[in-house]
Amino acid sequence: MSVKSSNSGICALCGQRATKTKMIAHLAACAATHDETGSPQPLVVLRFGQAGEPRYWLIIEAKADAPLRYVDKLLRQLWLECCGHMSAFRIGRRELAMTTASAIAFAGAASKVEYEYDFGSTTALTGELVGKRQGSIGRASVRLLARNEPLVWPCGECDAPATLVCPFCIDSGDGVFCDAHAEAHEHADEEVYLPVVNSPRMGVCAYTG
Ligand SMILES: [Zn+2]
Ligand SMILES: [Zn+2]
Ligand SMILES: [Zn+2]
Ligand SMILES: [Zn+2]
Repeated sequence: MSVKSSNSGICALCGQRATKTKMIAHLAACAATHDETGSPQPLVVLRFGQAGEPRYWLIIEAKADAPLRYVDKLLRQLWLECCGHMSAFRIGRRELAMTTASAIAFAGAASKVEYEYDFGSTTALTGELVGKRQGSIGRASVRLLARNEPLVWPCGECDAPATLVCPFCIDSGDGVFCDAHAEAHEHADEEVYLPVVNSPRMGVCAYTG
């Protein structure tokens, strides 16, 4: 299954388009101009990507003292939640409590934090600290700063952009189809198709975005 993509993303605060690397510099200037009034507090800037598929990425920021469960909640909202599966953050083999403060979990640029959603049909992510600043993001403990642009998957049978995923065939490499070819595909009668969505959980379990 091939994909046409640029590795670019969109700033959620101002709409600016930039590559994954340049986005960090953009956000260093942009985030402060989108702060709320109120006294600044320490924030950590975190980047998540799908393990093995770095074209899916998110940059978020969290209050330094925000427990990991808020980061978990945002990841579920943006990328993952299908039916309330379990999830966990880990450093090496050590699982982190969901009450761990974000700044403690993501203590240094060297320590990558692994995250898993659903211990059956697992979606695995890697998170890292990419910045720190003082700012005021209002009452929310975490917010989205930027994410990858939707990847364009060509239909397995023609070159049109795919709209549907066949979960039976996605692992074989040719499981995405335009509407017409989805209808012609051998699993059309099973009523199992899932939508093409901007998420590393596309085509998994019952994820519909
Ligand atoms: Zn921006
Ligand atoms: Zn599920
Ligand atoms: Zn097609
Ligand atoms: Zn199929």
